[in-house]
Amino acid sequence: MPPNAAATAESLLAFWADAGVDAMLLDQPIDRIAAGRIAPPRAPERKAAAQPAPSPVRAAGPDVSAAVAEAQALAAEADSLEALAAAIAAFDGCPLKFEGAASQAVVYRGDPAAPLMVIGEGPGQDEDRQGRPFVGRAGQLLDKMLAAAGLTGRVLITNTVFWRPPGNRTPTPAEQAVCAPFVERAIALVNPKMLLLVGGASAKAMLRKDEGILSLRGRWHEWRSSDGALELPALPTLHPAFLLRQPAAKKRAWSDLLTLTERLDRGDRPA
Ligand code: URA
Repeated sequence: MPPNAAATAESLLAFWADAGVDAMLLDQPIDRIAAGRIAPPRAPERKAAAQPAPSPVRAAGPDVSAAVAEAQALAAEADSLEALAAAIAAFDGCPLKFEGAASQAVVYRGDPAAPLMVIGEGPGQDEDRQGRPFVGRAGQLLDKMLAAAGLTGRVLITNTVFWRPPGNRTPTPAEQAVCAPFVERAIALVNPKMLLLVGGASAKAMLRKDEGILSLRGRWHEWRSSDGALELPALPTLHPAFLLRQPAAKKRAWSDLLTLTERLDRGDRPA
């Protein structure tokens, strides 16, 4: 090696490093795995922690019908709202119960003989903590509106699903379908005169319609139980959580409540 070759090489390497060259490559790749020099890369390990916890639940896919059948059988046996709430709490067929956001089943609050049933979407964090539907900010607004319409003490409040969805997402149609037999049984036990369907997820599931809430709201629809044995007038309205974000929409919800009370009170007036 010439006397200054090492210093020249070092200087050249420093120049390349400064220029951003940080890997030495040959013109042609060498397959060192094929040459048996290094082991092939291992397939990335599945991270155990990232996998959902094993669930005793039938997934909300092809087995939904089995969960629905089980819910129907349990619901039919319940001869009171308390018995129904106990059956729901013991039911393992709704995937939401095992998705990590729900600490308990949230079933109903209000008068078990109410002339009006309010059906919301599903419990949020406050509802999950307290075990009662509509007790958070949206629920407080709902209560204020019901009070202003003279409906305090005349309602029973429940939801289309009984367990809090993760991140308060909208419940899926499959989750709602699995809970529907319990909702129908609650309606049969309370025997209200009419239903107030709060929010798009409730209105669409209860009426089996695909329209948005802005077109469904404010008009009377006919709710029918899945066996056709029960029928009730149902009025969809805007969700109070939406009204908290869009206060300008409150006047439409108020007009819906006036439509509702007019019909409810008409039924109570002597002909
Ligand atoms: N939103 C709902 O739809 N239901 C609740 O119980 C609470 C918030």
